[in-house]
Amino acid sequence: VTGPQHLLASGAAGVVLWVATGEPITLPVAIAAGVLPDVDHVLDYYNRYIRRDWRRIYLILHGWEYFAAMVALYLAAFREPWVLAVALGYLTQIGGDQLHNGGRWFSYFLTGRALARFRSPVILPNEKPDSYEAFVQSIPFGRGPVRRWFAARSTPRFR
Ligand SMILES: [Zn+2]
Repeated sequence: VTGPQHLLASGAAGVVLWVATGEPITLPVAIAAGVLPDVDHVLDYYNRYIRRDWRRIYLILHGWEYFAAMVALYLAAFREPWVLAVALGYLTQIGGDQLHNGGRWFSYFLTGRALARFRSPVILPNEKPDSYEAFVQSIPFGRGPVRRWFAARSTPRFR
């Protein structure tokens, strides 16, 4: 799922919450929660394209556990619109990735990946060598050179 798609999905959730609660803060909070988790790709991209090591995938900010924790916090302690916006914005992020990135059912559980010892072939068995394309589609300009840079470094090395 690309950055613009995460932006649209979390923005839509934020607008719904804004209308439902009357709190405009829910819009930027939902967008932040729906987009920012993807900064964790920095670590995995570093391993894949700088170190050229595809053995493991961490995705440390992606996990249904985080969503469950946010819902629990909202229900148990902080019944604030902005907490709900964090939870629903994050839901669009993790739900979109779960549905569209072609992982296994456990791929977007932190515990699932840990039990698989973060091994890429187990967690993302159908990952294509050009999985960087979601990132390329997320940058507004300079896609050509960026795509060529990744393409030149995208030979998966699993051992
Ligand atoms: Zn993501």
